[in-house]
Amino acid sequence: MIPVADAIQIVLSQTSTLSAESVPLSDALARILAENIVADTDLPPFDRAQMDGYAVRAADVVKTPARLRIVGESAAGVGWHNEMNTGEAVRIMTGAPVPSGADAVQQVELTREVNGAGLVEILESVEAGRSIVRQAQEIKRGETVLRAGDDINAQTIATLASFGYAQVKVGRRPHVAVMATGSELVDVDQKPAQDQIRDSNNYTIEAYAKLAGATVERLPLAGDDTEQLKKQIAAAVERSDALITSGGVSMGVYDFTKAALKELGAEIFFERVALRPGKPTVFARIGKTLVFGLPGNPVSVAVTFNLFARTALRIMQGSTQPTLRPETAALARSVKGSAERESYLPAILRTDEKGTLLAEPLKWGGSSDFVAFARTTALINVPADVKLIEKEKIVRIVKLPN
Ligand code: AMP
Ligand code: MG
Repeated sequence: MIPVADAIQIVLSQTSTLSAESVPLSDALARILAENIVADTDLPPFDRAQMDGYAVRAADVVKTPARLRIVGESAAGVGWHNEMNTGEAVRIMTGAPVPSGADAVQQVELTREVNGAGLVEILESVEAGRSIVRQAQEIKRGETVLRAGDDINAQTIATLASFGYAQVKVGRRPHVAVMATGSELVDVDQKPAQDQIRDSNNYTIEAYAKLAGATVERLPLAGDDTEQLKKQIAAAVERSDALITSGGVSMGVYDFTKAALKELGAEIFFERVALRPGKPTVFARIGKTLVFGLPGNPVSVAVTFNLFARTALRIMQGSTQPTLRPETAALARSVKGSAERESYLPAILRTDEKGTLLAEPLKWGGSSDFVAFARTTALINVPADVKLIEKEKIVRIVKLPN
C-alpha cells in the first residue's frame, strides 16, 4: 500500500505529453495551450478615451465653467489626427483615440454644448490623465500573456482573439477506452434480471474523462472472465492512449482485472493505495497505453478517477496544473478519519451567514451510495491516522470538476 501522494507522483512521472495540434479559436475552449501567447500589439494600441465626452487640456479647465472651441470629433475607429491646441476641445467617444495635445477627457455629463456656436462649456475641472487609458498601459507588445500548459477557459478567449490567434496550438485530446467489468452488469437500456444491476461506472468515467478533455470510447461490458477481459484489454490498448477499467480489482474470488493485466505483460506501477475510498486502485502500462484499474464502487470510481486518471489525462495534454487544486473550508460537521489510509470524503460546499466556506460531509451509505453522491461538489481530505476532525476546524478540500 503506498501513500496517495506517492501514487500521484508515480502517475506524474509515468505519463508523457502527447503531440500538439492546431485548432480554430472557436474550438479551443476547455483545451490546454501548447504554445505561449505573445501580445502582437500594445494594449491599448493608442491613448484611448474611457468615456464619452470632450478631450481637453486640464490646464484650460482649472477655472470652470470653461468655454472651449470644438475643433473636431474622435470616434471609435475614426480618430481625429491633428494637434489640439490650448483653448480647444475635441468631442470624443469611448474607445476612440485621444488627440495629441489633449491630456484629459471630461465626461459628457459634466459639459454643456453652446448651441450652434461650436463651443462647449466644461462644467467641472479634470486632472491630467482623467478617463484616458494610455497606450500599452494594459499590455506591452511582445509580452507573454498566457503560457503553454494553461487551461483555455471563457475568460482566456478574449486574449487569444485580441492578439490574433485565429488558430491556437493545443495539446491533442487523449483517446480513452472505458471498460466496466462484472458479471452482474447490464447496460443502461436493459432491465436488470435477478442478481443484476445496471452499469453506471462507464458513464461516470466517460463524463469525467470528457471534462478532463479526452475523447472516450465505451467498450462492451465485460464479465468476470479472465480470457474475455484479456481479449478486450488487448484490443483496447491498441487504439487508445489510456484504458480505464472499473471493478474486479479487490480480493474477491472473481476479481480478475489484475490477473488479465499481468497475463498481458502489463508493467504494474501500483495496485494498492492508502486511500479511502479507493484502496485497490491499479496503475499500469501495456505498450504505450496507460491503464487505470479503478475499483467497482461508483463513489470510489469518482474519487480515484479524479485523483489519478484525470491527472494523467491532463499531463497528456501538456497541463502545468494537472492535479486537483487543494483548497480549504471549515467543517460543518465532524468527520472521522481512517487508520493508515488518507480519506477523500464526499461533501457539499456552502457558505454560512458570515460568508465562510463550509464543507458539509455527506450523510451516505458508503462508497456504493451513488445517489447520495450525486449532491457532492467536493471531497474532504483527512490525513491518514487522524481519528476525528471536529466541527468548525479548517480542512483541506478539493472541488470536483464540473
Ligand atoms: P468489484 O470491485 O468488482 O468487487 O465491485 C464492487 C461493487 O461495485 C460491487 O457491488 C459491484 O456490483 C459494483 N460495481 C462494479 N462495477 C460497477 C459498474 N460498472 N456500475 C455500477 N456498479 C458497479
Ligand atoms: Mg466485480
